[in-house]
Amino acid sequence: METKQIGNKSVTFHRYNTVIVGSGAAGMNCAVHLYEFMSKKGLEIGAERIVVVTAGLGLGASRMSGSDKQTYYKMGTSPDVADSAEEFAKSLTAAGCCHGDSALVEATGSLREFYHLVQAGVAFPTDATGTFIGYKTDHDPYERATSAGPKTSKFMSECLQRQLERYGVRTIDEQEVAHLLTTGSGDGKRIAGVVTIDKTSVDKADYAINVYLGENIVLAAGGPGELYKTSVYPKGQLGIHGLAFRAGLTGANLTESQFGLASTKFRWNVSGTYMQAIPRIFSTDAEGKDEREFLVDFFPSMSKMATNIFLKGYQWPFDPQRIEELKSSLIDILVFNETQKGRRVFMDFLHNPVGSDSMKKFDINDLEAEAYEYLNKTGALEDTPIERLAHMNPPAIEIYKENGIDLYSEPLEIAVCAQHNNGGFAVDKWWQSNIAHTFIIGEMAGTHGVKRPGGSALNAGQTGGLRAAEYIANAYGCEPADYPPQDAYRRNKQDEIEKGLNQLVERLERYSAVHRTPFGGHLSADANQDGLVPEEVIADIQSRMTASGGHIRELEDGRRALDEAIKLYKDIQQRGFKLQDAKNIIKAIQAEHLSLTSAAYLKAVVELLERGSGSRGSHLVLAEDGIEIHPDVINKATGEPLKFKRENESLRNSILHIEYDESKAELFRCAEVELRPARRQRKAFEPAWQDYREGKIYSS
Ligand SMILES: Cc1cc2nc3c(=O)[nH]c(=O)nc-3n(C[C@H](O)[C@H](O)[C@H](O)COP(=O)(O)OP(=O)(O)OC[C@H]3O[C@@H](n4cnc5c(N)ncnc54)[C@H](O)[C@@H]3O)c2cc1C
Repeated sequence: METKQIGNKSVTFHRYNTVIVGSGAAGMNCAVHLYEFMSKKGLEIGAERIVVVTAGLGLGASRMSGSDKQTYYKMGTSPDVADSAEEFAKSLTAAGCCHGDSALVEATGSLREFYHLVQAGVAFPTDATGTFIGYKTDHDPYERATSAGPKTSKFMSECLQRQLERYGVRTIDEQEVAHLLTTGSGDGKRIAGVVTIDKTSVDKADYAINVYLGENIVLAAGGPGELYKTSVYPKGQLGIHGLAFRAGLTGANLTESQFGLASTKFRWNVSGTYMQAIPRIFSTDAEGKDEREFLVDFFPSMSKMATNIFLKGYQWPFDPQRIEELKSSLIDILVFNETQKGRRVFMDFLHNPVGSDSMKKFDINDLEAEAYEYLNKTGALEDTPIERLAHMNPPAIEIYKENGIDLYSEPLEIAVCAQHNNGGFAVDKWWQSNIAHTFIIGEMAGTHGVKRPGGSALNAGQTGGLRAAEYIANAYGCEPADYPPQDAYRRNKQDEIEKGLNQLVERLERYSAVHRTPFGGHLSADANQDGLVPEEVIADIQSRMTASGGHIRELEDGRRALDEAIKLYKDIQQRGFKLQDAKNIIKAIQAEHLSLTSAAYLKAVVELLERGSGSRGSHLVLAEDGIEIHPDVINKATGEPLKFKRENESLRNSILHIEYDESKAELFRCAEVELRPARRQRKAFEPAWQDYREGKIYSS
């Protein structure tokens, strides 16, 4: 540890072999594996070479998000149904835009990582013979899913944290990432370190700046949850996409976010048994009055309507290919249509769905076969949804109770929310990014394609962490970053690091432009009256993203939104921020990089639309000559019936990459890249063993 004066700031430098950003399930797992790989190599002080830095141990999707039974997707463990890695990989790549090699790695690594979690203490259920019990999720033809209950990912990150503590690896909490320090250029470019602001120090006159230097950097800061206004991501989950773009990392498949029905008062997915219990779904006006059974006009019978509510359970994400012919995603569209009218939508677990005068009364025996057989098999044939839910999944009721909502006495408000990004940053089959020695794992890595089976995000996060750790320990070694540097080449690097830091300190000072009184602590807010207010900037970004980069997209609207997003980013560069007090420096940093994230996402949306894309994954593309859903489903912008364009399947064979380029008017440049296939050739045991012993597997 060394402290240096940079501008008028004192900056503390820490040196590690590997700096992991983010303490979610992905980051914690990578740290555990890295320690284990280092130990296997005989290194006794592995714990001193690794650090996890995080904005909040208790923050992020892993700690704070879930559903009725949050799903972990792994290769089948059924004793009588055979599964294989290739079949698993086929499910991951089925809807296109997904590399074959990383999909096969996720498949191959899935059981190893699943059992790693079991060993770490996650209580995945078994039967009396020790079989891990599976069930079916969205986009999943097998019963590969399993769950440790509504809070699977929380248990995962907690168990992994305990393991890290046993190993003695440090997690530094309350560190907001403010910058990624880069050195070199071209193939020699590196991310040399991560700059953080210690959040516990921001109300002091002189907040603390830390630099975590690493030979290797692993980014596991999760998805860009705060991008959207209507969101089920946990509050405060921001990610660091804007910072990563500025450091030169390449984005992939950013357009493929997932949206679906979730409760809004307490942010939680209403998938699985919440829908399989078949609650009544109704709307009210803004004051909660004037109840209406708004679904009834769109379905020909109670049986069809109730079966579709049931199917939303495991067909959870909004899917434009499940709208026509009265399929289950029509429900998402109708909920959205209702909220567009300024009405609120609720799930009522005390009553069965209520029909129109022309419909029969709800009768569980009238459900279509798929729904009836499931409920019959589960034995959940009780009279009311709450009884059926209590029968199938009592923890699903308890989680709401823990968060102040009693499903026995109040309806649950829902909306179509942003939930996950299948895209993120481009990585190879070792989860290494386009910058050597920088790895990207968890939701920040863009390894999923247009669709993914429910639960595969958690598996990808674990497998990616394993791969990054294995590569770091075996291909890059375990030495800490060299600082202060010993030779001329490295002294150059030091100059670059200090230059980067000087620029950052200058920027932070200029952005805040608040004057300190000589006796410390107090800030006068009169210095930058022209500056922007960080909270207003974030609210502006969120409204724009939900309206124009959400689950309904249209080219002209996207272009307008992109122009606004770029203008906002440039405004921030010119005008800086007006801070009410010192603590707001964190919000200012967040607002700035979130604004670049938003420009990147919108640029990708527009680019894909310009390439002739249609509705796919979890978003609908509007087109005047498209397919009308129903005369009463209205495009709010035009007042006309909403019409959508079908998927352009020719785009399934490539992935849209995006890179920050300051010289471009739109700040980013895009390129289509071909899909990498999975390698089919298999070597015999002896030559493969030799490759392994000689470390050739890290270069082939
Ligand atoms: C409601 C909901 C339900 C879900 N259900 C499922 C499911 O059933 N199955 C499934 O597979 N996936 C599911 N997902 C997705 C899955 O939970 C996430 O993709 C996964 O948990 C992400 O893990 P992670 O470790 O990559 O990131 P996170 O768990 O989000 O962790 C991010 C970490 O980075 C830190 N961080 C963030 N920003 C910064 C910053 N600026 N500076 C410093 N640190 C920062 C955070 O503090 C946190 O420690 C669900 C997601 C949601 C929102």
